[in-house]
Amino acid sequence: MRGSLAGPRVLLRRLREIMAEPISAQDRLDKIVAQIAANMVAEVCSVYVLRADDVLELYATEGLNRSAVHHAGLRVGQGLVGLIASEARPLNLQDAQSHPSFAYLPETGEEIYNAFLGVPILRAGRTLGVLVVQNRAHRTYYDEEVEALQTTAMVLAEMIAVGELQGLARPGTSLDVKRPLSLKGTPLSDGIALGHVVLHEPRVVVTQLLAEDSDKESRRLEQAIANLRLSVDDMLSRDDIAPAGEHRDILEAYRMFAYDRGWVRRMDEAIQNGLSAEAAVEKVQSDTRARLQRQTDPYLRERLHDFDDLANRLLRELMGKSHGPDGGSLPKDGVIVARNMGAAELLDYDRSRLRGLVLEEGGATSHVTIVARALGIATIGRAANIVSLVENGDPIILDADTGEAHVRPPADVEAAYAEKVKFRAKRQAQYRLLRNKPAVTLDGHRVSLNMNAGLLVDLPHLVEAGAEGIGLFRTELQFMVASTMPRLDEQTALYEAVLKASGNRPVVFRTLDIGGDKVLPYMRMQPEENPALGWRAIRLGLDRPGLLRIQLRALLHAAGGRELRVMLPMVTEVGEIHRARALLERELTQLRRHGHKEPTRILLGSMLEVPALLFQLDSLMQAVDFVSVGSNDLLQYMTASDRGNTRVASRFDPLSRHFLRTLARIVEAADRHETHVTLCGEIASRPLAAMALTGIGFRSLSMSAAAIGPVKAMLLALDVGRLKAVLDPMLALDDGGDGVRAALTAFAESEGLPI
Ligand code: PEP
Ligand code: MG
Repeated sequence: MRGSLAGPRVLLRRLREIMAEPISAQDRLDKIVAQIAANMVAEVCSVYVLRADDVLELYATEGLNRSAVHHAGLRVGQGLVGLIASEARPLNLQDAQSHPSFAYLPETGEEIYNAFLGVPILRAGRTLGVLVVQNRAHRTYYDEEVEALQTTAMVLAEMIAVGELQGLARPGTSLDVKRPLSLKGTPLSDGIALGHVVLHEPRVVVTQLLAEDSDKESRRLEQAIANLRLSVDDMLSRDDIAPAGEHRDILEAYRMFAYDRGWVRRMDEAIQNGLSAEAAVEKVQSDTRARLQRQTDPYLRERLHDFDDLANRLLRELMGKSHGPDGGSLPKDGVIVARNMGAAELLDYDRSRLRGLVLEEGGATSHVTIVARALGIATIGRAANIVSLVENGDPIILDADTGEAHVRPPADVEAAYAEKVKFRAKRQAQYRLLRNKPAVTLDGHRVSLNMNAGLLVDLPHLVEAGAEGIGLFRTELQFMVASTMPRLDEQTALYEAVLKASGNRPVVFRTLDIGGDKVLPYMRMQPEENPALGWRAIRLGLDRPGLLRIQLRALLHAAGGRELRVMLPMVTEVGEIHRARALLERELTQLRRHGHKEPTRILLGSMLEVPALLFQLDSLMQAVDFVSVGSNDLLQYMTASDRGNTRVASRFDPLSRHFLRTLARIVEAADRHETHVTLCGEIASRPLAAMALTGIGFRSLSMSAAAIGPVKAMLLALDVGRLKAVLDPMLALDDGGDGVRAALTAFAESEGLPI
């Protein structure tokens, strides 16, 4: 029977001709099935397309009753066709009717056929339909025939994905590729975005599926694989990659796959069947995806990503495209979907066309998140597998308040969100009305509300949000988004611009907080076992005073003729402040010597984010002009839970008794020494937490610009005396339990506070 296959190459050539004919989609489909049947000497060839209601509808057939087309259908999991769709793998049977899953559809007249070969129609590992051939004779189809049918299915996958068959759907039904999909991730930056998907690293779209000269395609594949292997080896040999850790694991997995002989052999076989090298990569990738997706082992499922990345890299090699983002054409309401990305890559996009960001990875305090927040872009993270579930241009609604992404949303969801957006706009307008109103509580306590910033793009928010000043300017962001170390003049220019935009409002510049998770790609650092506990921030600044001195010089230059506030990150011992002050004095002397205009006043402050400082509170308060509590790090170090690790990051509540008591002690010490104290961690951005902070005595907070309105609205309705009557006894208790958050929530509700 081997001779029954007149060669997949001939079949593909004929299909290519059919694809080019100016005929209707149904005619094209009819011709395709007729051609496949003729080529494979099969009496039947049928195409089933998956609808959004999980039914595989018969779309075309050669050999079965034509009247069943668009009438007959099987559910996913039902019958042999349904089994192929649910398992996403071929089924090759000599005697179909004796298979336990066989389901007879009387309208098709298929009872007379015995041999059955069906393959899933796959795209990026998703099943879009099933392609079947049948023969009366009891025969088994050869592996080459299975392979050929799978290859042919790719052509159909393309037709379905580009929407060519959409118009053929029965009225009231729609195809699965257009099925609405809702995913739950983690909210990272508040907001609601209605827009269209832009894949950050779009799957390379293979347009040339078929190729005449297989030898040439084989050689192209061979060359591309050689290049790919070289680039993976190269990445692994770079000494800025830590000897252990997630990044290296991924690269090791890449290397393993890149050298996998089975992978290369399968691609080569596909080329021999007439596919172009690109289509061969895509086909094998689709098969692998479908196989791995069925795995229950989480490690193997996780490897799916690595396979995807590697296949995409290989496609880019073949097509001569560079790796990296394709920031190019952006719709006017783009929602970027990415596995992960760096802060600088996000900034490459045109902000005015960006509505939202969805990441498969990404943590609340990762840099891309910090930048997304600064840009006011609705963002969610941990959206599992989203990259493979969407297509460029799909409509999407992002609810970053709840962490939900609705892809291809149905009309009612869209309408509900249009309402929600209107409501938010109304609330924003109310916040704008409060913009110039001081935040004074009902019983007369004034709280200074400042904003956190780090980039020029943040600055317009200062006025828009009505911030009293910049409580934390993260200077490291300029360093993190640059491709080379910013020079003295570049640093000075940024600080000048910030001061200019701030007018008379105070700005607190925090000196470089790099190291730990804040890596500079161009700075070679010794690998560290525990970077969060490593050589970072002020430690690095004092050991390599060159870097810190240049930054201090830039700050002094920029602040000539006005007040300068400088803050030191990750201080662990008061002695570090004295050493930093000495560096600042030295720079000031130099400044004077060169006749530059000096600042009218210099205030030096310290972050309080390392628990060791809690035991030096009195000397700390005496050593500085102001203190700012970095609750993100303080909580991370006090509870020994990595702030970037989503499994533990939310395990310990900042509104727990022990943490609030700690913060209260800081305020007491600051009051004793009349040292200004503020808090600039993420918790200040949450109205309920800001209420608690006010209750324990904070009168200055710094937060994301978007949080100022909601926090101010809460404060204007708050009576601190009444709050303290509830909070103080709770904090004094020592019953081993907690419940502070619950009590605060109940208080806020009973007082009608907007939280
Ligand atoms: C903090 O640790 O709370 C803080 C504000 O600093 P960063 O988030 O930049 O570490
Ligand atoms: Mg910190």
